[in-house]
Amino acid sequence: MKKRTLLMVLILVNVLLPSACTRRRGAPADTVLIHGRIYTVNPKEPWAQAMAFREGRIVAVGSDKAIAAYQGPATRVIDAGGHMVLPGFMDAHVHMMAGAAQLERISLNDAKTIGDFQKLVKDYAASHPAAKWIQGMGWYYSVFGKKGLPDKKFIDEVVPDRPVFLSAYDGHSSLANSKALQAAGITRKTPDPPSGTIVRDPATGEPTGFLKEAAGPLVARRIPPPTREEERERLIKAIHYASSLGFTRLISAGADAERVELFDDIRRSGGLTTRLYMARFVNPPISPDVLKLLEESRTKYSDDWIDLGTVKFLLDGVIEAHTAAMLEPYANDPGKGQLYFDPEKYKEGVAQLDRLGFTISTHAIGDRTIRLALDAYEAAKKANGHAELRDRVEHIEDPSAQDIPRFGQLGVIASMQPLHTTPNDNNLNVWAGNVGPERAQRAWPWHDILAGGATLCFGSDWPVVTLNPWPAVQILLTRETPEGTPAGGWLPKERLTLEQAIQGYTMGGAFAARRERTEGSIEIGKLADVIVVSQDLFKIAPNQIGQTKVMMTMVGGKVVYRDPSWKD
Ligand SMILES: [Zn+2]
Repeated sequence: MKKRTLLMVLILVNVLLPSACTRRRGAPADTVLIHGRIYTVNPKEPWAQAMAFREGRIVAVGSDKAIAAYQGPATRVIDAGGHMVLPGFMDAHVHMMAGAAQLERISLNDAKTIGDFQKLVKDYAASHPAAKWIQGMGWYYSVFGKKGLPDKKFIDEVVPDRPVFLSAYDGHSSLANSKALQAAGITRKTPDPPSGTIVRDPATGEPTGFLKEAAGPLVARRIPPPTREEERERLIKAIHYASSLGFTRLISAGADAERVELFDDIRRSGGLTTRLYMARFVNPPISPDVLKLLEESRTKYSDDWIDLGTVKFLLDGVIEAHTAAMLEPYANDPGKGQLYFDPEKYKEGVAQLDRLGFTISTHAIGDRTIRLALDAYEAAKKANGHAELRDRVEHIEDPSAQDIPRFGQLGVIASMQPLHTTPNDNNLNVWAGNVGPERAQRAWPWHDILAGGATLCFGSDWPVVTLNPWPAVQILLTRETPEGTPAGGWLPKERLTLEQAIQGYTMGGAFAARRERTEGSIEIGKLADVIVVSQDLFKIAPNQIGQTKVMMTMVGGKVVYRDPSWKD
C-alpha cells in the first residue's frame, strides 16, 4: 500500500511538473529568468519561457510555471518582459587589441567618396589637436574610384602638418600622407620590403603613399607605442563593448594571445566579461622554441575563460589588392597573388600542430589558398588519425566549386564574416572585377558550404568591420546592403534562414572553440551565458534585424551588461 502511494505521488509529480527539463530540483536557484521568449538553439526543445541558474550554470529550462518551483526567498528574479532571449553570441574571428586601439581612431568605414574621406580625416585632426600622429582604419578601395588607387595627396590636402597613417578596411594596405612618409624615411630610393609594395607614381617614381602588405609597417613602426596602462584601459573598454553587443565568447584570430598576460590581468581584477579562445600566429616551419611556447601557454590557459588551444596561419592576402592566391590569374591583372608560405612547409606545420592536439585556423581567401588549407587538414587527419577535426578556414571569400563540398566531407569548420559580403561598390566593382564574372558567382558561398554538411561559425574580423553582430545576422538572411541593394540580394541562393544564422553565432562558435558541451545553447548543465535582445527576430522583417539592441548580457550567471533603458 505504501509503495503504491509513493508511486501515485511520483505520477502526480510528473503530471504537475511539465516535461520541461526539471530534473534534480534540490536547493532554490540563485537566479531565475522569467517571462522570456527563449529561443534555446536546442533542437529537442527550441522554445521556452523561463530558466533557472545555480552556481553559474543552467539548472532548468521550461515554462514560467515550472520554473516558479526554483524560486526561493533569496532567488534573484529577472523579468524578461516578453523579450527574446538567446544563448550568448560568439564572434569567431576578432582582433581585440587592434579593435581596442581602433576605438580611439578615425573610423573610415562610412566614407563612400573622397569628399567623405577627407571630411572624416579633417574633422578628426581638428578635434584632436594634441595628437602627434593621426591614425585611422576602414577605408574602402572603392572610395578612390573603380581602380582603387589611393594617394597621399588626398590626406595632404586636409592635414599637411602632421603625420597621418590610415589602414584599409581589410588591414592589408594603408595610406600615409607626406609627413608620415617623411617620418618613416620613405623616399623614391627606398626598396620594397619582402612581401610588401611601396606603390610609386609611374611617371616620377615618387611613393604615392599607398603601401601594400608589409610596406605598411615601415610607417606603422615609427608611431610611438601606447603605454601598458593605456593599452589596459582601452582593452577593458573593448571587452565591455563586446559584452554590450551580446558576446559571451570571442575567438581571437591573432595578435591577442601574444598579449595574454594583459587579458589575464584584467580577469584577475574582475574586468573580463567575455570568454576567450585565442590563437597565436605561427609561421612554418614551426621551431622547437615556438612549439615549447605554444605548449606552455596552452597548459597555463585552458579554462572556461581563457583558452589558448588554437593557432593561426596567415596564408594569403586579399582579393582587392590582388594578393589573395588564386588558381588562375586575376581577371584584370596577370598575377595570381601569392601564398605566404611554401605549401609543403605549411602542410608539415599543420600536421605537426594537429598531432599535438591544437586546433588550427588558416586565413585563406583565394581559391588556391583555400584548397591548400583543405589539403593540409585532410593530410593531417590521415596522418594523425583524429576522428574529428576542429580546424577552421577563415574568410573563404572565393572557393573553387570542387572545394565547397570538402568542408562537410572533411569536417572542416567554415569561419566566415558576413559583413565582408556587403554588396557595396567595393565588392560589386573592385572585388568582383578582380576575380571576374565566373568566380564572382561563388562569392562567400555560406549556404552551399552549409548544404555540404559543414559547420559554419561567424565573426566580424573586428576592427575590419564593426563588432556589432546584428547587421551581420541581417546580411546572412538578405545578402543586401542596409539600403536594400541589390533588391533580392547578391547571389540570393546563398541566403540563410534565421535559425541557421543564429546557429552559426552560437553552437557554431562553441563547436569551433571545443566548448559545445558547455556553451552555445540554452540547456541544463551548460554555462549560464544568455542574452536578452530588444526585438523578436522571428517576428520582424529580415531588414530590421540590424537594428537589434542587446538589453542584457549574462555570463556564468552574472549580469555583465544591462542597457540603461531596460528595467526588469
Ligand atoms: Zn582577421
